[in-house]
Amino acid sequence: MSTALAPAPAPPRTLVGFSGKDSPEPALINTCVHCGLCLSSCPTYRETGLEMSSPRGRIYLMKAVSEGRMSLASEVFQGQMSECLNCRACEAVCPSGVQYGAIVEASRAQIQTAREHASGTGPIRPQGASVGLIRAFVFGRLFKSMAMFRGFSWLMKMYQVTGVQWLARNLGILKLMGTSEMELMLPRFSSTFTVPKGQVYPAEGTKRQRVALMPGCIMSTAFAHVHEATIRVLQKNGCEVVLPPNQGCCGALHTHGGDLDGGRELARTNIVALEQGGLDELDAIIINAAGCGSTLKEYGHLLHEDPAWHDRAGKFVAKVKDVHEFLAQIGLNTADLKPLPVKVTYQEPCHLAHAQRITAQPRQLLNAIPGLKLVEMAESSLCCGSAGVYNITQPELASSLGARKIENALATGAEVIATANPGCALQLAVELKKKGRDVPVRYIVELLDESYRGVRSKSLA
Ligand code: SF4
Ligand code: SF4
Repeated sequence: MSTALAPAPAPPRTLVGFSGKDSPEPALINTCVHCGLCLSSCPTYRETGLEMSSPRGRIYLMKAVSEGRMSLASEVFQGQMSECLNCRACEAVCPSGVQYGAIVEASRAQIQTAREHASGTGPIRPQGASVGLIRAFVFGRLFKSMAMFRGFSWLMKMYQVTGVQWLARNLGILKLMGTSEMELMLPRFSSTFTVPKGQVYPAEGTKRQRVALMPGCIMSTAFAHVHEATIRVLQKNGCEVVLPPNQGCCGALHTHGGDLDGGRELARTNIVALEQGGLDELDAIIINAAGCGSTLKEYGHLLHEDPAWHDRAGKFVAKVKDVHEFLAQIGLNTADLKPLPVKVTYQEPCHLAHAQRITAQPRQLLNAIPGLKLVEMAESSLCCGSAGVYNITQPELASSLGARKIENALATGAEVIATANPGCALQLAVELKKKGRDVPVRYIVELLDESYRGVRSKSLA
């Protein structure tokens, strides 16, 4: 007779107050003094005019749940945690230093855990079977295995280049399935994938630095051409560039979406990959996507309760540099830049401007390109509505923020919109398509690369 005991059932989760691990810390919530100085910076408040949809309103809701005056199951609470873009514009202007990103991500983690444990008869809606399956596949499998992610990217490429996409669009199949808006957001999977295998790209001229490039997931597939441009620009700036193997997705989608354990797993994978790739010999770990950069820089916070990993995360984070921050810091090689006469406007990714507070350096780099005229758009740092999967979870707000951004960009008369994040690049491209406007959206490093090479890409010609 087996003596094995069946595992004890998990204790019922209380919906009064936050509980268990990843609870938003009351001390962080209470940093807010309700001054309201953040309201005019908040995109959802600007769109709706509702106090509830402002940072202060959302912090009130978190405080109410934290103190047991509101249930975690409250539709208002869940709705507002989902409606927030986590753009962190509020955090950047808050005089009290509220760490808004940390408390909203922990609140989402609490909601997600409660949904996963919901019985179906309680007050919190359990996750629907299809949503649960999609989440489990996307968060649990696709973004955790780069082999699978590359396989998926290859399938997407086949969908796009074999005519299936054309048929699906023109025969109304996507409309019938209700997925035409979502499908518009698919990037072009036509680049050559950047698979990190330990490649070393030598510095041009005198070697100034040895750096690693983090290829990531979507950036190493649909945006591999941006990585190629980044490597060439770094080489031109005297950097030896290495691509340590076994790196993967940074975990941004997981952490922003409340799957903090999933984010931690990916953080550990990347830390090990860089340790094995010679972290001690590196001057910097370079990242060219704003959302990924802010996630990498926050690995220390993500792993702060894990003594075995906290110090290792600290060593890793100390070397992470956004590519614009890095180039401005080491001093851009301006001697080899050739004229690129084009009028450019810059849309600031939230996770560069607000989360990493990098605002001057991207403009500095653009202004260094001879012949390039930088024209500022209104509301450059107001979120474009991309925000991870926001355009899927909150399509109306995402679309109206996207349209607002494009109107501001087009009003400048710019021939190119520059940015530094894949989500923003996709959102801008979709909104331009909806308006029937053919304005190229380019990464700053692509413009630098073209200037160094003295070539004009077709979209700029
Ligand atoms: S988050 Fe900061 S700026 Fe906004 S109300 Fe609270 S203290 Fe004021
Ligand atoms: S993170 Fe952005 S959307 Fe959310 S409350 Fe702050 S400013 Fe508003």
